[in-house]
Amino acid sequence: MSEVLVLIDHVAGTVKKPTYELLTIAKRLGEPSAVFIGSTEAGRAVAEAVKAYGAETVYIIDDTEIRDYLVAPKAEALQQLAADRDLAAILLPSSAENKEIAGRLAVKLGSGLITDAVDVGADGSTTQSVFAGSHTVTARVTTGIPIITVKPNSAAPEESAGAGALTPFSVTISEAARAARIEETQPRAATGRPELTEAAIVVSGGRGTGGDFGPVEGLADALGAAVGASRAAVDSGWMPHTNQVGQTGKTVAPQLYVAGGISGAIQHRAGMQTSKTIVAVNKDEEAPIFDLADFGVVGDLHTVLPALTAKIHQSGA
Ligand code: FAD
Repeated sequence: MSEVLVLIDHVAGTVKKPTYELLTIAKRLGEPSAVFIGSTEAGRAVAEAVKAYGAETVYIIDDTEIRDYLVAPKAEALQQLAADRDLAAILLPSSAENKEIAGRLAVKLGSGLITDAVDVGADGSTTQSVFAGSHTVTARVTTGIPIITVKPNSAAPEESAGAGALTPFSVTISEAARAARIEETQPRAATGRPELTEAAIVVSGGRGTGGDFGPVEGLADALGAAVGASRAAVDSGWMPHTNQVGQTGKTVAPQLYVAGGISGAIQHRAGMQTSKTIVAVNKDEEAPIFDLADFGVVGDLHTVLPALTAKIHQSGA
């Protein structure tokens, strides 16, 4: 059976959920192998984590020589790993960095590339949701090794035991790939809340908050949820751009999405419409978000959200 390489998405050696989703998809296409770019030491713990999701081989690419550079060395490393291997596909979690890696890798390998897939079938056909979710595209790579970036929450991770064989892989990085060097990295201050794209519950606020995200954050913390925002809220400087949900923000598909003071523009819906249960709080009963919502409250979010938060605290949840 041909191998399917999955690039591991991790933060300082902690594997993120999209990796498990991709390993689950990889099993449909062939034999899943995971690729870790990081320290050899962290690679051991990572291998333990991914083998529970079916990774037969875990390639460790030590990043000592490349961690100070931007994406080019990672593309080169993956090219070297892909050479002389019988690969059914290479899957990467869709992020800005990984899409750049995938693009460079596709050029190097002479392969076709599909980005932002929301599903990949056993026959390699992919599904993409485009134009703010108004069209669904089915596509397939016809040349070379299919390189596919897959959006988070595109599959439910399924556990299955793999061998998890640790396989260090040495790479030789060219001078050209080291053309842009990282001078400094500042980690974003931790909020203590779950990552937006991985959270089971997301509470989002829009222009209707009037800039006061207190009720949104209060409910999010009571529910252990991530905080999202519409573009209007982000553009007003009320929330960082990293919290934006939508066509030009992040795509989320939580079990529960609460939209407070968000009208439900198509570009916002594109990022949250596949949420399992949608609750909208809006003072305008004609707001389009109610067409999409499973439950709606017509009211002022500054009253409704704190009341809900108080109820949750009272119930001891
Ligand atoms: P509004 O549309 O102004 O809605 C505010 C809502 O709050 C109204 O329905 C109002 O009734 C309600 N409200 C007001 N006060 C209260 C209150 N006290 N209590 C309860 N409800 C109240 N938007 C995104 O969100 N994400 C994207 O990624 C995105 N990408 C875009 C890309 C492009 C190319 C373009 C053109 C637009 C994009 N937009 C995006 C913008 C989008 O079109 C909307 O302008 C935006 O989503 C509106 O944000 P909003 O719902 O917060 O604001």
